[in-house]
Amino acid sequence: MGLLEGRTALIVGLANERSLAWGIAQAFAAEGATLAFSYAGPALERRVRPLAEQVGARFVEQCDVQRDAELDALFARFREQHDRLDVLVHAVAFARREELAGRFVDTSRDGFQLAMDVSVYSLVALTQRALPLFTGPNPSVLTLTYDGARRTYPNYNVMGVAKAALEAAVRYLARDLGPQNIRVNAISAGPVRTLASSGIRGFHWILDQVEERAPLRRNIAQADVGAAAVYLASDLARNVTGHTLYVDAGYHIVGAELGRAEREGEVR
Ligand code: NAD
Repeated sequence: MGLLEGRTALIVGLANERSLAWGIAQAFAAEGATLAFSYAGPALERRVRPLAEQVGARFVEQCDVQRDAELDALFARFREQHDRLDVLVHAVAFARREELAGRFVDTSRDGFQLAMDVSVYSLVALTQRALPLFTGPNPSVLTLTYDGARRTYPNYNVMGVAKAALEAAVRYLARDLGPQNIRVNAISAGPVRTLASSGIRGFHWILDQVEERAPLRRNIAQADVGAAAVYLASDLARNVTGHTLYVDAGYHIVGAELGRAEREGEVR
């Protein structure tokens, strides 16, 4: 029997087959979960629907997380088809391309607000609406973050600040909802090429550095995020909440590297 047999997951943030949400969807489906999806806007529908069909999902709805009316409509429609939700997956982030290049100090007020609204407040807005549906034995919320919350990366800028706020939001939600047996966790994924990450100037430099410097000397894949998500959503993690789980080949623990001479065995 699959680890998520009999559980229903709503996955918010599927854009295409490269999305981390797709890695999570495939892993959840393999463990027996029933899946439901929402996507940001009409332009994505033709990519999202065929993917949803591949994992047997019947519920596929549009929802811009910046619009309260669309959020309300999403959950109203969900309730028409499902009387319970077990896992809410938040895989949504956005910042304008111009804020993901150059200096953080140049961030505009509306660019800051936009990044925080889409990438952080949406977790709160979705969780609020999911609460009445969390009536099963082990409900949980899962979001996706990045090490740019903790350390600085070139051009990640306002998104790093948004991810720091997102990780704090995970802790506050976990504290609020723990007494109702609802868990809230984050996966801090290593860099993966997706639509969102392609907006970050020089993203390939980060991929190269992870491969060179991470303890495991490799980049991660979508499927690694899916596997971690299965764990966090399953009963195996029933006492794990407020946690940020790194799935990054260990890159977050690395400080300085040895110089080239030392790496090549030359003693100085
Ligand atoms: P992606 O582009 O596939 O997913 C981002 C999703 O956010 C898209 O589906 C997009 O439509 C959605 N979105 C943006 N604005 C929205 C809005 N107003 N309403 C509803 N949806 C909206 O890219 P991804 O890399 O899979 O990103 C998913 C999550 O993973 C993001 O939170 C991202 O920051 C995080 N993450 C990505 C990486 C990486 O390297 N790719 C690493 C760590 C964390």
